This record gives sequence, C-alpha cells and structure tokens, in this order.
Amino acid sequence: MSARLLNGTEVAARIREELKPRVEAFTSRAGRPPGLGIVLVGQHPPSEIYVRNKLKAASDIGCRAELVRLPETATLTEALAAVRALNADDAFDGILVQDPLPSTMGSGASQAVFDTIDPAKDVDGFTPVNAGRLSQARAALAPCTPSGVIELLTREKIPMSGAHAVVIGRSDIVGKPMALLLLQQHATVTICHSRTRDLPAITRQADILVAAVGRTAFVRPEHVKPGATVVDVGINRVTDGAEVAALFPPDSPRHADFAKRGALVVGDVHPAVAGVAGALTPVPGGVGPLTIALLLANTVTAAEARAGWSASH
Ligand code: NAD
Repeated sequence: MSARLLNGTEVAARIREELKPRVEAFTSRAGRPPGLGIVLVGQHPPSEIYVRNKLKAASDIGCRAELVRLPETATLTEALAAVRALNADDAFDGILVQDPLPSTMGSGASQAVFDTIDPAKDVDGFTPVNAGRLSQARAALAPCTPSGVIELLTREKIPMSGAHAVVIGRSDIVGKPMALLLLQQHATVTICHSRTRDLPAITRQADILVAAVGRTAFVRPEHVKPGATVVDVGINRVTDGAEVAALFPPDSPRHADFAKRGALVVGDVHPAVAGVAGALTPVPGGVGPLTIALLLANTVTAAEARAGWSASH
C-alpha cells in the first residue's frame, strides 16, 4: 500500500486564487490594498528565504508587503519600537515578526515582541489575546501552520469529527493550536510531547497523526496505524549524504535533488511511513505552502475586520 499524497501546493494555490477577489474588493472600497509588515532582525539564512517567500506571495495577490529589517546588533527596545510603529501605521493590517530573534536579545525576547503586536493585526495568531480566543473557539486570527493543516484536511475530505487525532508536539505556535483547532473540528485529541511514555502505543491509536517535533524522520511505520492520515509539519535540513542514503530507497528522486543542492528538506515523518499510512502530506509540498496561504488569508481577514467589514469566508 502506498499512501495518497495530500498536495499542499495545489490547495495553497486554490486558497490564493480565492483571496484575490477579496483583495480587489478591499482595495477598491478602502482605497488602499491590505498591508502586511514583516520585521526581520539579524542574519538567519532560513528566515531570509521564509520572509522573501511571504513578501512575494503577499504582493502576488495584490497586498502591500513591506520588510522592516533590523541589524543583528539591534536591541529588544529597537525591535519593540519597530512593532509599535507598525501598530500605529494604518496602512498595515498585519504584522509578523520573523522568529527566531538573535539570541543576544535574551530568552524572553520573542514573547515580549509578540506581546506587543496589536491583536487586531496579529496575523500569526501568537498574541495572548488571540491564543485565548482560540482556546474559546472564537479566534478570527489563528496560527497559520495549524490553520493550514485544517484547511488541507477539510478540502481533502479527511473526516475529523469523532476521529482520534494525536498531535506530537506542544509548542505555542504549532502543537497546542493544532490540538485546539482539531478539537474545534470535533476530533478526540491527544497531545504527546518529549515526556510522553510509550509514544508508539498512543500514536498507533490515531486516525489523524500530526508530527510537529522538529526531528528528521522521527515518526516511523511502527508509530502509525495502517490507513491513518499522517500530517508532517516538520522542516529539517539534511546535509549528510549517509543520512540521505539511509532515509530514501535507491530509486528515490530525492537522491538527485541532494546531489544537485547538497542538502534536502526532510520532514518529521520517515519516508517508509508512506507504506502504512492511508494519506500523507509530503515534505516539501505539504504543510509548508499552506502556512503562507493562511498568512495571506489572515492578512485579508485582518484588513476586512479593521475596516469594520465582516470576513467573507
Ligand atoms: P518546537 O521545538 O517548539 O517543539 C517541538 C515539540 O516536539 C515540543 O513540544 C516537544 O515536546 C516535542 N518533542 C520533542 N522531542 C520529542 C520526543 N522524543 N517525543 C515526543 N515529542 C517530542 O518546534 P515547533 O516550532 O513546534 O516546530 C516543529 C516542527 O515544525 C519543526 O520541524 C519546525 O521547523 C516545523 N515547522 C514547520 C512549519 C511549516 O510551515 N511547515 C511552521 C512552523 C514549524
């Protein structure tokens, strides 16, 4: 058996197309496009790529997308000032601060910065106000990655109501909101984490298994009930040829990718899980593109809400 692949790239493209008329309607009614401001602090190569993709995706659907770049040496006070300036600027409906911040800012810096974002512009859904609303199933702006997973499962007609969903990972940006959104879809939800005992015994009960661990190929066939839907949130960069050789069968096209680029992006789910699962999100091309599509959706929703118009979706 080989799992049906859930194509996030295609679903994300459809979501972006659906947003275009909303962007046009907003722009003609408000006299300006929805605005997204992204704050990027310091030098972090993966963040450069993520931010470039987000800015391009936003401007491609007609939004105004601007980057506020601060140097590696920026202080927390300067980062907070950048956020406050975007809060005060009416041309921006959405604000995103790209994580991680430089470690020199201290361990509480990300929280302090997220706490400063105006909840009405919090398109990542990371502020305490929006996290609280999510826990009460009334969030207008929920975190993009887990929201993208729900969109994918809904559009691919994976039944969630009554299903047993197991989420591996309890972070504030993926695991926890993922569990809350699945609960909102009437799934029976179990959250597993680094201190969970006998993880495979729990994950093997899952009809829907979400892996948000941050460890390459962590979920193996023995973790998965035959026929289950497996969602791979992980983004891990593998540069070791021996690791690539051990992960993928000799006829896999991923070897040619690795030979060309010298690195591969691999999820938290082992490729052999495709032989057990009923449906599976690929990496790349699964959850990643949906995260950006839902960021755009949140930006348009925030723009409409700030203008006093009810969201049209
Ligand atoms: P995180 O490090 O904050 O959280 C990882 C979680 O995994 C923790 O809650 C931890 O308890 C759990 N964990 C660690 N070891 C475990 C173990 N042995 N058994 C069970 N649970 C264990 O990471 P995160 O920010 O939640 O991200 C998770 C992954 O998702 C990363 O690979 C990240 O790159 C990726 N990610 C992808 C997207 C996307 O757009 N696709 C967006 C955000 C994050």
